[in-house]
Amino acid sequence: MPELPEVETTVRGLARFLDGQRIAAVRQNRPDMRFAFPPGLVQSLTGARVTGLGRRAKYGLIHTDRDTTLIFHLGMSGSWRIDPALPDKHDHLVLETQGNRFHLNDPRRFGFVDLVDTALLDAWPAFAVMGPEPLGEALTAAHLRAAFAGRKQAIKLLLLDQRIVAGLGNIYVCEALHMAGIDPRRAAGRVSLAALARLVPAIRAVLEQSLADGGSTLRDYVQPDGELGYFATRFTVYGREGQACQRGDGGAIARVVQGGRSTWFCPRCQR
Ligand SMILES: [Zn+2]
Repeated sequence: MPELPEVETTVRGLARFLDGQRIAAVRQNRPDMRFAFPPGLVQSLTGARVTGLGRRAKYGLIHTDRDTTLIFHLGMSGSWRIDPALPDKHDHLVLETQGNRFHLNDPRRFGFVDLVDTALLDAWPAFAVMGPEPLGEALTAAHLRAAFAGRKQAIKLLLLDQRIVAGLGNIYVCEALHMAGIDPRRAAGRVSLAALARLVPAIRAVLEQSLADGGSTLRDYVQPDGELGYFATRFTVYGREGQACQRGDGGAIARVVQGGRSTWFCPRCQR
C-alpha cells in the first residue's frame, strides 16, 4: 500500500518528465476508479500545460496552466507507469505528452482522481480538515501537545488521525514511536512535552530514511517496468514480532491490535 514516501517518490518521478509539458491527449479507459472520473476530465486536461507537481498527505497534485489541479490518490495498489512496454488492463487513465505516456494503473481500484480549481485546493473536503504535513515546519511538539491535551486515546491511534498529522500511515507511526521510545498504548494526553519533542524529529527521520531508500533503489525513479514509486525499505519494529529489539536492550518486539490494526513495539525501551 503506497504510504507517504511512495507518493512523494512518485510525485518526484512524475515531475521529472511531466513538469512544464503540455498534455497532448488524455484517455479514460473506464468511467471510474473508486469514484467516477470527474465530468469533463478529458476536455479539461487536453491541451493544458503542467505548471508544477506537489503532494499533500498521501495525495499527489498535478497543477495546470488552466488554474486547475488534478488530485490523485493511489489507494491500495495504484501506481503511475511511464512509457510501459506493454499496455495493462488496469491502466485506467493515460496522459500523453510530446515525449511520454503516463499510465495510472490500479488493479484493486481503491485509488481515484479529482480535478479542482487550484485556488480552492485548501477547501477540498479532505484537505480542509487536514493537520500539518509531517515533513513541514508546522508539525511541532507544541502542536501535538495541544492536539493531544486531555485525550485518553492511545497515542498510536491519534497519530493516525489525519486531522492531527497528515499522511502518517501505520508503518511510520510504529517506527517513529520506537525511535522516540514512546509506548504506543500510552494515553496521548499523558505523553510529556519532552517525549513529543523526541517524537517530531523521529517522525521526520523515519520518513526521510524511507525516501532515501526509495531514491537509492529506483534508478532515476523509474523501474524497468516503468513503474514509479514502490520500494522495499528496512523497518526496525514493523512486522518484526518476536525479534530482538535493535537497540540491544534485550527486549523482544511485541504486537498488539489497536483500532483493528497491528502495532509493533518494544516493551523494554518504549515507555
Ligand atoms: Zn527496545
